[in-house]
Amino acid sequence: MTTAPTAGSGSSQRLSAEWVEAARVRLLEQRAFRVEQLADLSRRDSDGVVGPAAEEINAALRVAATAALADLDAALRRIERGTFGRCRRCGETLSMARLDAVASASLCGACHRASDRARATRPPRRGRRARMR
Ligand SMILES: [Zn+2]
Repeated sequence: MTTAPTAGSGSSQRLSAEWVEAARVRLLEQRAFRVEQLADLSRRDSDGVVGPAAEEINAALRVAATAALADLDAALRRIERGTFGRCRRCGETLSMARLDAVASASLCGACHRASDRARATRPPRRGRRARMR
């Protein structure tokens, strides 16, 4: 485990409690949207979607919505722990602009780009898990 750099040094800005509260409201709104979306998708499933293409699109949408929901939940947990807005890699405070764009962001711009690069150079995972229903 790495220790986060101590606060007080550097130029990193502090996120005000008000600002974090506003972000929390936004995260909860987005969360409600995703929950609704997932409910809608399973409704569509039980209505009997026609054709494998529609089924595939539905599955992809569900994967994306589930991942987004997990991101939002993780961000809400970070707010509770008081680590919201801090990069989980380098410990830098994320810029407000970045959090404004992606409220659930957990990496600063530099670390995000670095992880994107790492992902791009890594070969895609093979072998699908059995589909859960
Ligand atoms: Zn970082």
